[in-house]
Amino acid sequence: MIQTVRGVRDILPEETGRWWFLEETARRIFIQYGYRELRTPIFERTELFSRAVGETSDIVEKEMYVFQDRGGDSLCLRPEGTASVVRTFIENSQHRCLPWRVFYMGPMFRYERPQKGRFRQFHQIGCELFGPDGPLADAEMMSMVLRFFREIGIGDAVTLEINSLGCPVCRGPYRERLTAYLESVREVLCANCQRRMVRNPLRVLDCKEEGGSGVLQGAPAMRDHLCHGCEAHFQGLLGHLERLGLPYRINPFMVRGLDYYHRTAFEAVASGLGAQNAVAAGGRYDGLVAEMGGVSTPAVGFAMGMERLLLLLDENKVPVTRPDVYLVVAGEDLVTASGLMLAERLREAGLAVEMHLSGGGMKVQMKHAGRSEARIAVILGEQEVSAGMAAIKQMRTGEQEKIAMDQVVERIRLLLCQHH
Ligand SMILES: [Zn+2]
Ligand SMILES: [Zn+2]
Repeated sequence: MIQTVRGVRDILPEETGRWWFLEETARRIFIQYGYRELRTPIFERTELFSRAVGETSDIVEKEMYVFQDRGGDSLCLRPEGTASVVRTFIENSQHRCLPWRVFYMGPMFRYERPQKGRFRQFHQIGCELFGPDGPLADAEMMSMVLRFFREIGIGDAVTLEINSLGCPVCRGPYRERLTAYLESVREVLCANCQRRMVRNPLRVLDCKEEGGSGVLQGAPAMRDHLCHGCEAHFQGLLGHLERLGLPYRINPFMVRGLDYYHRTAFEAVASGLGAQNAVAAGGRYDGLVAEMGGVSTPAVGFAMGMERLLLLLDENKVPVTRPDVYLVVAGEDLVTASGLMLAERLREAGLAVEMHLSGGGMKVQMKHAGRSEARIAVILGEQEVSAGMAAIKQMRTGEQEKIAMDQVVERIRLLLCQHH
């Protein structure tokens, strides 16, 4: 028996309703903000990610599914969404018609240790906005993210955290100060941080181990070393968030590992998920398009992991998918033929109809009707068909009536309206 690969899983029909709900809500909200969907390939040249995500990142070093195709090219399954979006932006000379607002959703792949809510094939939804460089774009995006969380019923559980990461002008001097501080506390840092403080001291700030020891409380914060332009951007953002009435918390330890991240970084943090508490993460990456060889264009974006969202989702908001009608056909060929035709007429009228196909008596078929959770059962027996009638049963109340065949569609429509 062949089973799924470790760390991946099937999404069964009982679960897909919740996925649809997330995806449809995201589509609806993003479209309200002027975004359109972009679909990029699931595999790309490996080089794309080593450049965009960073040669030294955990993702590129340890987690990518890299393979050689039969032509000898090194390809990989996408570990995240932004790199492909940036590639598309450059490849289609999209800088000529800014702003460019796109969203994407779909599977991503990372070779990580599987655990609750974390899979090797996981799913992300994200948005990217190219063009505007001001804090208004950042604020609009955060507002959209929070609206999405309210719509899926977790608005109250989510807190917006923001920070400024500075820019190439102010980050250099800041990095020196930070490095000096880290040198002074070197012996209490974890082994991992002692190693990376040389190459990437900023990453020490979001180390979970140091977070517990309190050694970082004394570290200099980027916030206090912003250049004039970065400070104005950050103050502008705070002003917009206040005007929009969006509560936020400044988190000076929120960092991103790469140089092309500029200024704004934000996360939506959910209570009740333990250590994996960020449900959306985003920020400004003004340097990435140029880094990837395109015409320098400011950009801001975010991504969220669907598996985590599904752990938090308000089940009451998820629409139930079930047939409107279960069609019971208890009798010989004539009855079955009438049933087939009636089912098609009902579908023509836009109704979802599950017809009983596997025979059996009335009692058995009614049991199936109940299990299907259809609101109405239409029953065709020998008697009904020879009289040109059908029996309609409202499953909730048990009420049953006989209706002329040519009036069945109208009658069912009326009953379904009354149910709503
Ligand atoms: Zn700056
Ligand atoms: Zn550490």
